[in-house]
Amino acid sequence: MNKILLFFVFLFVLAGCSSEDKPGLKFTEKGREVPSFNADSAYQFVQQQVDFGPRVPNTEAHQAALSYLESKFRAFAGSDAVFIQRFEAEGYDETLQLGNVIAAFNTTAPDRIMLSAHWDSRPRADEDTTRIDEGILGADDGGSGVAVLLELARIFKDTPPPIGVDIVLFDGEDYGRSGSLQKYFLGSRHWSQNPPVPGYSPRFGILLDMVGSENAQFPKEQYSLSYAPDLVEEVWSIATEKGHGDLFLNEEGAAVADDHVIVNEQARIPIINIINHRRLPGGGAEFGAYWHTHNDNMEIISRETMGAVGDVLLELIYNRL
Ligand SMILES: [Zn+2]
Repeated sequence: MNKILLFFVFLFVLAGCSSEDKPGLKFTEKGREVPSFNADSAYQFVQQQVDFGPRVPNTEAHQAALSYLESKFRAFAGSDAVFIQRFEAEGYDETLQLGNVIAAFNTTAPDRIMLSAHWDSRPRADEDTTRIDEGILGADDGGSGVAVLLELARIFKDTPPPIGVDIVLFDGEDYGRSGSLQKYFLGSRHWSQNPPVPGYSPRFGILLDMVGSENAQFPKEQYSLSYAPDLVEEVWSIATEKGHGDLFLNEEGAAVADDHVIVNEQARIPIINIINHRRLPGGGAEFGAYWHTHNDNMEIISRETMGAVGDVLLELIYNRL
């Protein structure tokens, strides 16, 4: 039996024995020791992704980055606990070769959570004034969320989490042209419609998107508030307790279309999005000045921002579930 088959077998076991009395979205302090997040390590994980160049579907850099992520997660989770969900999707004038990256930790635990980000970067810089048709590095838009999850994976290897954790990195999130959402979220659509583990139902999911820039602000995103309000309140109250109230704003943000909308509506998993944005007076979303430009590079990446997000997630995972 090959490794991929083995992976499916253990995941079927997981899906089949989820307990009926799941704690759901209830949280209590458990008094457990919480490992510390290494922001320098997370910063390096952004740098390593950016070093491949723009991780645009159907490019060599995209393939190289996928191999890098596969080998990193194999090192952290074990070879049998990593699965690349390869698939094709129709782009504008091309068929895209895409892959979602899935890594499972504490694989025998029936009680699980899901952590996500997108690993592709945008094929165009449509908010820039130059080189609009060239792919962007996506240090923050894509890279930072993946980097925080790589650092968590490194920690999970040393200190297994008290609950099952599945890291799911979506491909093809940022492929679409602005003006229509049709060609966005290609990976989360495929994953939700073709679940590698039929019946997979983690307690909840958390999506990280643009969690690494300087001057970031995370107001409470609107879809997140409607899908999993108790989880939003827990995450934001942990942030306040830990002194990160300047980042995790105790106010309502905008409704931001992102992978979490697909995962909630198609896979029926309650999931929130931690995303750097501001809510405009009319209710719309505004993103950082670097967003969808060539300035989304290492110069705007902040160890402090990633460190704060990592601290909050570690407290949640190790001490509140
Ligand atoms: Zn984007």
